[in-house]
Amino acid sequence: ALRTAPLRARAEIDLAALRANVRTLRAHAPGAALMAVVKSDAYGHGAVRCARAAVEAGATWLGTATPEEALVLRAAGLTGRVMCWLWTPGGPWREAIEADLDVSVSGMWALKEVTAAARRAGRPARVQLKADTGLGRGGCQPGEDWAELVGEALRAEDEGLVRVTGLWSHFACADEPGHPSIAAQLAAFREMTAYAEQRGVRPEVRHIANSPATLTLPDSHFDLVRTGIALYGVSPNPEIGTPADFGLRPVMTLSASLALVKHVPGGHGVSYGHRYVTPGETTLGLVPLGYADGIPRHASSAGPVLVEGKWRTVAGRVAMDQFVVDLGGDEPEPGTEAVLFGPGDRGEPTAEDWAQAAGTIAYEIVTRIGTRVPRVYV
Ligand code: PLP
Repeated sequence: ALRTAPLRARAEIDLAALRANVRTLRAHAPGAALMAVVKSDAYGHGAVRCARAAVEAGATWLGTATPEEALVLRAAGLTGRVMCWLWTPGGPWREAIEADLDVSVSGMWALKEVTAAARRAGRPARVQLKADTGLGRGGCQPGEDWAELVGEALRAEDEGLVRVTGLWSHFACADEPGHPSIAAQLAAFREMTAYAEQRGVRPEVRHIANSPATLTLPDSHFDLVRTGIALYGVSPNPEIGTPADFGLRPVMTLSASLALVKHVPGGHGVSYGHRYVTPGETTLGLVPLGYADGIPRHASSAGPVLVEGKWRTVAGRVAMDQFVVDLGGDEPEPGTEAVLFGPGDRGEPTAEDWAQAAGTIAYEIVTRIGTRVPRVYV
């Protein structure tokens, strides 16, 4: 249940829902281990709290983009497998090795840096070789580049500098079932992993599936699935299903306390640029959240908010710290809760609704909720 704590605004994080989502996702991919992707502060939900909850519920891996994010998990006492994949030259390889992280290597510069660090650390690095099977972003190109990377990784393994723990890749269009790139990427992944294994790589895990692949492409599960958005109960793409369709429960509820309620006459311009003008005498409510808190300015005149059981719409522009809703003559008390999004089961909008209002994806909505909004764990 939502609490009307005397906070300006709050993002309630339902860790029981997150744990339930872990169990649901494991049931979607019964033969695979589950990596809880907790990068970007667990998509805005709080990395350490969410990582702990995910591990309690059966996630045996944690995944982050940057090594710094992974090191934070270790510092918080999470001792299981942790992988990070977004490296730049001069990164904290030695710290990663000493913290027993699994590190992604996409090319020769990274392999050179990680082996040098392993030599200094006096212990092998756990390396996962990343293949670009068609995303065209990170990862090693197939063909000669892959052959060279695999060969050099095996040499480093022979020298005791590296242990190749994984072979992995990432999808471009897993949220568009039937997209021809899906079959092409799966074929390329099979080919690139088979080549590496035939050369002598013995990976503990091969993995390519993100949330949409976990939910809709059983052929893509291999040994491990890496789920981010679904863990937080948000649909990867509303066109393939709602969270409920997949048995998932939204984890974040974003709400604020109305800072002011007042009567205004018709014809009154509202917020910067007067992009909204009251159509008649009405009441306005001030919601103390703005684009600095991650409320998209693109949702001006569009974002939905639940106030006393009714959907209201952002009136005019979202400002840095606040926006206005037209309450149509209703007079809720100041402090009344305005719910921007949540699971939707009490009639409130969802993160997907905000994504639609702002012309973006729900990933961006939850991830960008700012640090000024306290996370309240329930
Ligand atoms: N794997 C990698 C490499 C990623 O970058 C991400 C996030 O984009 C994920 C897995 C999780 O993706 P999703 O949130 O769609 O589950």
